Amino acid sequence: MSQDWDAGRLDSDLDGVGFDTLAVRAGQHRTPEGEHGEALFLTSSYVFRTAADAAARFAGEVPGNVYSRYTNPTVRAFEERMAALEGAEQAVATSSGMSAILAIVMSLCSAGDHVLVSRSVFGSTISLFEKYLKRFGIEVDYPPLADLAGWEGAFKANTRLLFVESPSNPLAELVDIAALAEISHAHGALLVVDNCFCTPALQQPLKLGADIVMHSATKYIDGQGRALGGVVAGRKAQMEGVVGFLRTAGPTLSPFNAWLFLKGLETLRVRMQAHCASAQHLAEWLEQQPGIEHVYYSGLPSHPQHELAKRQQSGFGAVVSFEVRGGKDAAWRFIDATKVISITTNLGDTKTTIAHPATTSHGRLSPQERANAGIRDNLVRVAVGLEDIADLKADLARGLAAI
Ligand SMILES: *Cc1c(COP(=O)(O)O)cnc(C)c1O
Repeated sequence: MSQDWDAGRLDSDLDGVGFDTLAVRAGQHRTPEGEHGEALFLTSSYVFRTAADAAARFAGEVPGNVYSRYTNPTVRAFEERMAALEGAEQAVATSSGMSAILAIVMSLCSAGDHVLVSRSVFGSTISLFEKYLKRFGIEVDYPPLADLAGWEGAFKANTRLLFVESPSNPLAELVDIAALAEISHAHGALLVVDNCFCTPALQQPLKLGADIVMHSATKYIDGQGRALGGVVAGRKAQMEGVVGFLRTAGPTLSPFNAWLFLKGLETLRVRMQAHCASAQHLAEWLEQQPGIEHVYYSGLPSHPQHELAKRQQSGFGAVVSFEVRGGKDAAWRFIDATKVISITTNLGDTKTTIAHPATTSHGRLSPQERANAGIRDNLVRVAVGLEDIADLKADLARGLAAI
């Protein structure tokens, strides 16, 4: 049988293939040019054969592109590949991780609805709810991530949505996603998981019972620090509203960024494996150093949720946080003594990064709020990249010597 790429590959050709094959090939539909790599369609609009063709496409009677705020072939390829990797019926790409969260809430919640957000989520996620969504009548409470009884007790009659980030940043706490999905559904609410830290290579929340999964593609999906973007994936019933909001309000993904992310996905699993292996190695080494008081990494048997992490994830991620002996000054000396590692709060990059959460990502919290979040002044967070492990260890050793 010959490959009829001129007519476009059939999605059914990839039925039953493995994760890595999907990561490399899902979503690509070749044009008659026969290009091997994914085509980049830098076009804002599309032409129609006739006026009647235009009318039929606008009416949705005939499938096809109308305008790139609605659909773009390169963006669609990325969306189809992400849906395949998350095991979702449908995925839609967004201009950033934050606009993915905005689209979820704007499409699935109304004024008067109550949302439960895990206490330890990304700082801008909290700002989005506190500064903006609350003004439009969304009620929000923040249960501690790992505490299932706390979630159970936080429900109200109007609770519509649960939003969690597991594992959390920077302390690598987890929630049992399958158990939380059950609790959520018993109360008639939807469970949304921010899967940014694991990516589908390490965790597939929809398969654990979550309703919606979202990403900041800016992190490991690109994996090389080049572009901003996001993804929302789930069942068609919920995705219809999310897609509708994005098409109307406009924070959709640029085709160029979609093309970068398609390339990022092709190496996702091997990158995540390498990230995890180096993070595990450094976490074990740090735990043995006298200058370190505590290491937070779910790959360590000392982590209180190590067993859950083994069950729920196929890898432990690349974020390693630790408390140095001393206070803020010791943490800052540690950070400043590194030479290879970048001092920045970003993560999900080939380049290893180091940051002081108490004065950066969590700097706007009051001392009491920081204490509640478990962020101490001597905490340092490292997001392990793909440099030589010996060089990373030497850099951290310089930090230790400077405490
Ligand atoms: C970075 C990040 C976001 C926001 O994504 P942007 O692409 O920066 O808008 C959301 N959630 C988590 C866990 C993140 O790390």
